[in-house]
Amino acid sequence: MSDATFACPDLTKFCRLDDLGLVVTGQRIEPDRAVLACRVVDDRWCRRCGCEGSPRDSVTRELAHAPQGWRPTTLVVTVRRYRCTGCTRVWRQDTSAAAEPRAKLSRAGLRWALEGIVVQHLTVARVAEGLGVAWNTANDAVLAEGKRLLINDPARFDGSAAWIGDRL
Ligand SMILES: [Zn+2]
Repeated sequence: MSDATFACPDLTKFCRLDDLGLVVTGQRIEPDRAVLACRVVDDRWCRRCGCEGSPRDSVTRELAHAPQGWRPTTLVVTVRRYRCTGCTRVWRQDTSAAAEPRAKLSRAGLRWALEGIVVQHLTVARVAEGLGVAWNTANDAVLAEGKRLLINDPARFDGSAAWIGDRL
């Protein structure tokens, strides 16, 4: 080990949620799954006039995340709505770093699923079980993401071209 320094335990970093623009605020460990309550990293300054927004209300968004040790990990993300104290503009916190609009999988969950299928040769059923989602949810998400990656960079996932090609 080249660096034996330990940092403080940090669930946000451990689950790589900082990459998704999220911060863990709570955990609920159940026998067959873990649920992490998250909030969006701050987005309370008005992009039009720079004034601070005051919180109006919030909605929650559930995302299947990459499992920890095969135990499904679900994110329950609180997304706030703000109203600007200067110009009265209203906005909702931006969750695009965490997941595609309307997606049921976090970006990390999606990446885990695609790698599971392409690199580890897992079945869609096994991937769906790992994510704690329905077979169709996993299948649709992986096909859409695979297609997107292949269109953006056909050489990026060499092995996935044939796998996805078979299914389109
Ligand atoms: Zn404003």
